[in-house]
Amino acid sequence: MKEKSQVEKAKTPPAGAKKWTGIPVSSGVAIGKAFVLHTEDFLDVPRLKITDRQIPEEITRFEDALTRTRADILGIRKKLSDEIGRDQSDIFTAHLLILEDRSLIEDVISVIKDKKVNSEFAFSEVVEKYFRAFTQVDDEYLKERVSDIRDVARRLMENLAGKGQNPLAHLTEKVILIAHDLSPSDTATMDKQKVIAFATDVGGPTSHTAIMARSIGIPAVVGLEQISREVNTGDLLVVDGNHGIVVVHPDKRTVEEFTREEKRFIEFTSDLDKLRNLPAETPDGHRIELAANIEFPDEIPSVLAHGARGIGLYRTEYFYLNRTDLPLEEEQYEAYRTVAERMKPYPVIIRSLDLGGDKFLSSLEVPHEMNPFLGWRAIRFCLARVDIFKAQLRAVLRASVHGNLKLMYPMISNLTELQSANRLLDECRKELKKKKIPFDSKMAVGAMIEIPSAALTSDSLSREVDFFSIGTNDLIQYALAVDRVNEKIAYLYEPTHPAILKLIKEVIVNGHRNKIWVGSCGEMSGDPAIAVLLMGLGIDEISTSPFVLPKVKKAIRLVSYKLAREVAQKALQFGTGAEVQKFLHQKLHKILKSLEEE
Ligand code: PEP
Ligand code: MG
Repeated sequence: MKEKSQVEKAKTPPAGAKKWTGIPVSSGVAIGKAFVLHTEDFLDVPRLKITDRQIPEEITRFEDALTRTRADILGIRKKLSDEIGRDQSDIFTAHLLILEDRSLIEDVISVIKDKKVNSEFAFSEVVEKYFRAFTQVDDEYLKERVSDIRDVARRLMENLAGKGQNPLAHLTEKVILIAHDLSPSDTATMDKQKVIAFATDVGGPTSHTAIMARSIGIPAVVGLEQISREVNTGDLLVVDGNHGIVVVHPDKRTVEEFTREEKRFIEFTSDLDKLRNLPAETPDGHRIELAANIEFPDEIPSVLAHGARGIGLYRTEYFYLNRTDLPLEEEQYEAYRTVAERMKPYPVIIRSLDLGGDKFLSSLEVPHEMNPFLGWRAIRFCLARVDIFKAQLRAVLRASVHGNLKLMYPMISNLTELQSANRLLDECRKELKKKKIPFDSKMAVGAMIEIPSAALTSDSLSREVDFFSIGTNDLIQYALAVDRVNEKIAYLYEPTHPAILKLIKEVIVNGHRNKIWVGSCGEMSGDPAIAVLLMGLGIDEISTSPFVLPKVKKAIRLVSYKLAREVAQKALQFGTGAEVQKFLHQKLHKILKSLEEE
């Protein structure tokens, strides 16, 4: 039988178009077929009838999958026990016990034999029965075991499927990706040539799904609540990332309308591309540095194509994803060296490992925390796992002789952390010196300012570093107590909130007083009016997704520094974020009109 294409496997689509409205997080328009990623529904597998002769084969398949899953779990347990300690690895001992549960195994084998069905279906039927039994009992301990069983079951199902865990790596045609949410490991392994847009149930403008969409330059809408449950693989969709609209089963007229919109957007962006080689300079001669944020080295051509003159944030944690081991110093050195060489003479700011929050690492399996955004993450993790941190620091130092590299630490919350990180960096310098390994002894070192405590103590922090980079994505989250990936409170996530403007101003004033430059690497600077506001507040560098840079550059080239400073000064006096927005609109709308994608 001819293999159906992935999108042809659709269930029958419901009749009639449906329009969804969510949060627009990455510009552009895409029209295409949906590919729904069901990470939650891994037990939803087809029932296939088998013959008597196929029964032993099916049982062997199931037993092989059990063996492979056991080996996977043993591997993870050993690694975790070596790296983090026995306590944290005990959870996997519980997982092994589930796999060795004779009654579960025998139940599955009986279903295969009695019902003559494929092992995936037999396994899903038995596991569902276990879930039901465990959730109904009045025993907290047993209830908690449900998530262990779920984890083990998912692993086993993947091994039964016998393919790479991530279907996104094996897409056969261009698709619009629909999901409840996309994890960094989904986006890291997906075939980026095949995904033309994202639409997800959850997320906000600075969630990693959104950042990833902007960095690969595809339209995305998040916060659509139920879309992954109502859309089917193969449904025709329109995703308008400029306005936050998704239309399912669009009629002919709607498709024509959005095709025009898509064309207009392409013309708009190619117009902006003409600015590629011009500096980010205001009409009255004030220049700022314009750099790009990247997650992967393969984004460098896009960085240069969009007119960035440097990388202001290289999120190295993606380097640690989707692998069962940790990247060694040598491997990291090669990667950082490549980036440094390819960007030379422009600067590249490497951010040390920013694990945690919504960036978790498959190779570390860090224990589950109640408040991951406030937890054992980023510099806190690195200062506890000195071996991992120092391997990265040495790799960066060694690569520094091959280009214009700088280093910065994420999530600094106090002076002691910054001093400890610098001390470890110093140790690394000494170690390299002793071994006569070359490095740039003058490599600039900076701190990210993304926690209010760091902003408010930036005066003392600025004496320990060569630059600051304000991470507004997290600064907003922590200052306003708004989870950056929660769509229900996305309305509270206000970059123009007076508290945010005051914190930014404080950091700039303190940095400049101590003669260091201050950049911004959060997503808010991708909005042209806000970029002008930041420039008016005195920011020296803006780093954001490559695809929004041309708009930012054009805004800077249109607005005088004098006006930007007046606007910033006045903006600091309002009581609400909405008033600031209204004011920005009043002052800048006429000048920046050509940049609006309406
Ligand atoms: C930030 O917090 O603003 C930032 C740039 O880092 P990330 O989005 O990776 O947390
Ligand atoms: Mg951050």
